[in-house]
Amino acid sequence: MRRWNGWGEESIEVKLPHTAIRYLNDYLGSVHPEPDCSLDDVISLIPPSRLPPHPLISCDSEDRLRHSRGQSLPDWIALRSGKIDIFPDGVAYPKNEEEIKDLFTYSRQNAICLIPYGGGTSVVGHINPNQLDIPSVALDLSRLNNFHDLDKTSQIAKFGAGIRGPDLEQRLHREGYTLGHFPQSFEYSTLGGWVATRSCGQQSHYYGRIEDMFAGGQLISPAGTIKLLPFPASAAGPDLRQIILGSEGRFGVLTEVIVRVKPLPEVEEFYGVFFHDWESGYKAVKEIAQSDIPVSMLRLSDPEETQVTLALSDDGKMVPLGKQVLKFLGYSQGYCLLIYAITARKKHAGNIRAAVSSILRKNRGLGSGKFIGNKWRHTRFSTPYLRNSIWEYGLALDTLETAVSWNQIRSLCQAVKGSIRNALSNQNEKVLVFSHLSHVYNYGASVYFTYLFRRSSDPGLTLHHWYIIKSAASQSILDYGGTISHQHGVGLDHIPYLSQEKGQLGMQTLENLSKTFDPDGILNPGVLIPDANKFRDER
Ligand SMILES: Cc1cc2nc3c(=O)[nH]c(=O)nc-3n(C[C@H](O)[C@H](O)[C@H](O)COP(=O)(O)OP(=O)(O)OC[C@H]3O[C@@H](n4cnc5c(N)ncnc54)[C@H](O)[C@@H]3O)c2cc1C
Repeated sequence: MRRWNGWGEESIEVKLPHTAIRYLNDYLGSVHPEPDCSLDDVISLIPPSRLPPHPLISCDSEDRLRHSRGQSLPDWIALRSGKIDIFPDGVAYPKNEEEIKDLFTYSRQNAICLIPYGGGTSVVGHINPNQLDIPSVALDLSRLNNFHDLDKTSQIAKFGAGIRGPDLEQRLHREGYTLGHFPQSFEYSTLGGWVATRSCGQQSHYYGRIEDMFAGGQLISPAGTIKLLPFPASAAGPDLRQIILGSEGRFGVLTEVIVRVKPLPEVEEFYGVFFHDWESGYKAVKEIAQSDIPVSMLRLSDPEETQVTLALSDDGKMVPLGKQVLKFLGYSQGYCLLIYAITARKKHAGNIRAAVSSILRKNRGLGSGKFIGNKWRHTRFSTPYLRNSIWEYGLALDTLETAVSWNQIRSLCQAVKGSIRNALSNQNEKVLVFSHLSHVYNYGASVYFTYLFRRSSDPGLTLHHWYIIKSAASQSILDYGGTISHQHGVGLDHIPYLSQEKGQLGMQTLENLSKTFDPDGILNPGVLIPDANKFRDER
């Protein structure tokens, strides 16, 4: 069974290695974790549902709790402390278009809002009910998980939008194909959720972001239905797919999604390389990206993340030995780890290997073969389980991310890390922060920051600390020319920063689109668009 207040299946536990505990303790100081609220205690706090009965809606308390929050740090604090202000009043599991339309009518007639819910893995508050005075229903799309068809000639496939990553890949693998979209939340996130948040998978350098894969499909909105045909390309005016991508459940419910797929690769290799310093790694990664060498992933950790990665992967023998070897070879301090992947046809792989190796050598990269790369690959979807043990150990962990052009990367990284590191100095608390370049493009790269700090015995104070850090980091991101999100989306948490990026006319355009698709404002109010967060005045 899936955890109700953390990440992943209850039966799976990924322990923090002792080396990592020592590292965190040395940096952040000792911890005194408070116990979490139990499931029964939280259920006892849920207020009665305000909904008039409907045959498609469950008002079961546990169901409502399990759809009340996503996976952001504020969500974890709320779930683990039991301080969840607002619950959905019910949960619906529609299995077809007619049932969704029926729920639209019910919502309109009863002034209830609907929150499209994919896998609930949002880390920015996308699926949290946030309007105290408006009853809400979580529209769980997990039953829209059909495989419709695969057209091998055109290399496109159609699925129900509620299908989860593993089910989608399993279905395509059977036919010798893959979508190749692997966000770290792969285990639970859904195809519809990926499109609605403009998600980016780990091997996007080869497979593309979800917007490159999204060929068409069907969106049911309160104002009507849009069917998008999977043209290979079109000059017939603006591309409506671009409006639906990133619409975060505000413009309608994606019921079917048509995606561009690829044959399974003949070669898939993951490698680890060490650089003397971040600057050498940065130069290598940038040159590979700008030489159009078709690697599938380039992930360059800064020195702090490199140390944490090594501490976390310590199995007692290999890592200390590896560190000794690195020291012997002159890699004493500040060295950085690059993990890269080659995904290709056999006949191309040799040339790609050679082209990458030549750039790595030029920048004095030390190849460690496939050992570290394979280890990373095999644990990439279990790493999020560490969040459970880190929390239980007594620490709060969160991530944030951006993308910026190459000429701003150095200054942005420094500024954002500085603002996170120093954010709690007035409270005499330290924050450990580290980062990696996670997706690279010809023109720039995304930067992914992870930070940890000690939890307080008062959940309100932990939330306040998160807020101070998040505000400081977000403002630095914008000040240094980054987007407020490269892959996580806007949700509730990034709304305060969106208008600085989109401008007044841009925000007005989004608001107008929402009015067109959803004249009564029943879909996911409060998310993405700040001033559309109440039932419309004209109701
Ligand atoms: C551990 C972890 C790792 C992550 N790693 C990545 C990563 O590598 N890359 C990345 O891009 N993101 C990542 N994320 C963020 C998250 O997984 C993505 O935003 C994902 O796309 C959300 O999909 P979901 O199905 O869980 O959607 P939900 O969280 O359920 O919903 C997200 C938004 O999409 C809307 N929505 C969902 N389905 C539909 C639909 N069918 N029609 C209309 N609207 C819909 C919802 O209303 C909501 O606004 C990670 C999250 C976690 C917790």
